[in-house]
Amino acid sequence: MIQTTPVQERYTRFSCPNPQCARFNHPGEGNIVHRSWTGTHKHIDRLRCTACDREFSEREGTEAKDAAMRDWCARVTQQTGQQWEYARINQSDFEARVPRTLAEAIQALTLLQG
Ligand SMILES: [Zn+2]
Repeated sequence: MIQTTPVQERYTRFSCPNPQCARFNHPGEGNIVHRSWTGTHKHIDRLRCTACDREFSEREGTEAKDAAMRDWCARVTQQTGQQWEYARINQSDFEARVPRTLAEAIQALTLLQG
């Protein structure tokens, strides 16, 4: 697996999911670090908050986000009369493959699901 994002920038979009932590919901403060790789293909980032030591998956909270995106697509489909669909590509998968086109990104998604 090739990681192309510089280490110091890779986890700035994440924040601590622990409501009791001082860094809860504050992305970009440098407290989120890589812990390990998980999943069948070792492609899911397990992260750790250095402030409270809480470990969590990069995918934590994605179910609610996925549901919101599917709902958005359904509403836009209804309003426009054109079919809108949602597909999630996890950041680590995206960074490992660096797709240059939407077709390449979707191909990567298909490979993961297949
Ligand atoms: Zn924390």
